[in-house]
Amino acid sequence: MTKVPTIKLNDDREIPQIGLGLWMVKDKAEFDRAFDAAVETGYRHFDSAQAYDNEQFLGAAWQKSGLKRDEIWLTTKINIANFGHDKTLKSFDESLKKLQTEYVDLLLLHFPMKNKLRDSWKALEEIHAAGKAKSIGVSNYTIDQLRDMKTYAKTMPAVNQVELHVFLQQPELLQYCKENNIAVEAYSPLAHGAVIAFQDNDVMKNIAGKYSKTPAQIMLRWCVEKDLIILPKSVTPSRIRENFDVFDFSLDKDDMAQLAELDKNLRTCWDPTTSPMSDGVKLSLKGATELAKFGAQHVRDIKKVLKK
Ligand code: NAP
Repeated sequence: MTKVPTIKLNDDREIPQIGLGLWMVKDKAEFDRAFDAAVETGYRHFDSAQAYDNEQFLGAAWQKSGLKRDEIWLTTKINIANFGHDKTLKSFDESLKKLQTEYVDLLLLHFPMKNKLRDSWKALEEIHAAGKAKSIGVSNYTIDQLRDMKTYAKTMPAVNQVELHVFLQQPELLQYCKENNIAVEAYSPLAHGAVIAFQDNDVMKNIAGKYSKTPAQIMLRWCVEKDLIILPKSVTPSRIRENFDVFDFSLDKDDMAQLAELDKNLRTCWDPTTSPMSDGVKLSLKGATELAKFGAQHVRDIKKVLKK
């Protein structure tokens, strides 16, 4: 079985460089199939969240797997609806119950909701100090939000989980995180499935052909070359295996230079710089409507980019 490389975090812990993404895996049978295929392939790192509504499946699945607790890496995230000091603590206790564990390996604040960030982060620091989250971090944070953390955080985040892939390379954010010793987790590393639309891109096709790999594997390997932690999601066993098979080759300088040209600043998920939630808008009807419009705009943007 392939040995998965690890990335050293600023708290000295080592995180497996690949984890199975679990967003939108809401059906238990589908979840179990994906989890079993992943464990058999060699995945030991699973990326869940309160908002995904599948922590309970993950808890049951890892217990059933026969893996010992220290053989597996469990990540979850505090849902924005649970932000605030007390609600974060309370909701995290629920997460532990669902995950059937006494601690998680990594706990993240899911999204920067401006007016509750400080209190929620304080709660994460308390959870960390109590040993119930071995590492703590954030998700979807911009450079400004990370910089701001220096004014209130006692513990700086071990990771920032953000959308990152060949078509959204975010070089400034990567540089900032590197300089500040914050590991970056690449979510939607396959551009939320848009990899399918990019398979016919000449650069992608040529590089994939050169290594007898698929465009999806080239996208994931690009992240690995950048020292990112990758979280590809799939519920298809053959793809789960394909996505894992990216540690037996390297992209050379020339490949990386060609792939650098493919950056289209393409966001397939929410944009922390413009989302209405950055201003702390609650997910009220108004907030939800704004968010839906914002999502629709993204779909239009993706279509526009794909036409080019
Ligand atoms: P992704 O991993 O970029 O893409 C998943 C999509 O690609 C699915 O439709 C999957 O289909 C398809 N796919 C998977 N492997 C493939 C392959 N080898 N070839 C072609 N298609 C393939 O998208 P994502 O789910 O948006 O992101 C991954 C994970 O990152 C999430 O599951 C979640 O854990 C995390 N995430 C976090 C945030 C956040 O705000 N923190 C936001 C988004 C995502 P099938 O499943 O049908 O195979």
